[in-house]
Amino acid sequence: MSDNTMSQSRRAAVKLMLGGAVAVPFISLVGVSGARAADLPHVDAKADPTAIALKYVEDATTATRADKAGTPGAEQSCANCQFAQGTGDWVGCSLFPGKAVSSKGWCMSWTKKA
Ligand code: SF4
Repeated sequence: MSDNTMSQSRRAAVKLMLGGAVAVPFISLVGVSGARAADLPHVDAKADPTAIALKYVEDATTATRADKAGTPGAEQSCANCQFAQGTGDWVGCSLFPGKAVSSKGWCMSWTKKA
């Protein structure tokens, strides 16, 4: 994956959040350990404005995932996303500061982990 691809994906997510649909003061780029992620509230896929904007789902198999950066859609999930932080059933995500996403989840900002 190129830095350009990651930058484009991150830029697209930021545009969505700053576009008025979502009011997030900033995107935390600070890492969240796996142990801490387990204690964080889970992102509500149906109520969280960012989740809705990014089409986040807890079960990636329910999403329509196009091939991206040479990775088939069927292989994309939070577990192998560049923005995921930590390991385990629930992980931190730099696009959802203070919350945890399912490692089996997916959103349209998925970017292949370097
Ligand atoms: S696919 Fe990546 S950016 Fe999207 S919710 Fe999962 S970890 Fe976060």
